[in-house]
Amino acid sequence: YQAQCAPVRDSQGATVGIVAIFNDITEIRGVERMKTAFISTVSHELRTPLTSIKGFISTLLADNEGFYDEPTRREFYEIIDTECDRLTRLIKDLLDISRIEQGRSMQMYWEPVDIVTLTQKVLSAQRAYTKNHTLSLDFPENFPTIEADPDKIDQILTNLVNNAIKYSPRGGEVRVIGRHVDGTEGYVSIRITDEGMGIPREHLPRLFERFYRVDNRDNREIGGTGIGLALVKALTEAHHGHVTVESDPGVGTTFTLILPISQEKLLEAPHGSGVK
Ligand code: ADP
Repeated sequence: YQAQCAPVRDSQGATVGIVAIFNDITEIRGVERMKTAFISTVSHELRTPLTSIKGFISTLLADNEGFYDEPTRREFYEIIDTECDRLTRLIKDLLDISRIEQGRSMQMYWEPVDIVTLTQKVLSAQRAYTKNHTLSLDFPENFPTIEADPDKIDQILTNLVNNAIKYSPRGGEVRVIGRHVDGTEGYVSIRITDEGMGIPREHLPRLFERFYRVDNRDNREIGGTGIGLALVKALTEAHHGHVTVESDPGVGTTFTLILPISQEKLLEAPHGSGVK
């Protein structure tokens, strides 16, 4: 508790009593602590790619003698390019989460989206971050085009595939599996599975909260801000879909997205927009 006290005086200025106000600041302290931790993790997350970019550019600039051959120089440029993309994504995620927090609605740009092509694009981009994972996809021939916002679906898949890689430090397979949801015409499921460290059961209920990170020996060294999954959930719900997680510690984790094929009927529903 935080206490504020003030004397109460009569018209002659003599103290006749004291007013005390007690504020329960437990929660404020908690939020402040989370914010402080958040600022330090975000700063770290911004600095890591910047350090790498600066390092490779300095190396290239200093190489007047042509010590590095063309393929090596190209490799450096590719790393710089990948790290710039990582920074751009992080900043986009931060801006989006702050928009959502301010209760500002998400602008959706609906169009027919071919999830298979989009997944291939996401997996190609993510290959830059790993050499010891197999990234694969498994979609049936007749997988439907869905009505969605392609940039947001990209952001969802990128976050989930990137986590799958990050939290499987020993490598393994990361698969994106698309299916028609059994028994319904109107929905598809997209599962992202990994063979990584998994998530202890007690953390699952809070996993999609903003800033929430599992803190244990396995993943202490792994960087992150704790906003990825909060964003995945908000973006999925903006599509009138939902996201769930199953995990087996030491075996792997699966995130499942359920997305409607068409938005039309959902948008017509009187209270059914669900857009946050
Ligand atoms: P972060 O920036 O920390 O990765 P996220 O919101 O993306 O934040 O994820 C929240 C937490 O959930 C992570 O800190 C991590 O502990 C856990 N997590 C997310 N995805 C996975 C996964 N595929 N395997 C194991 N743990 C995961």
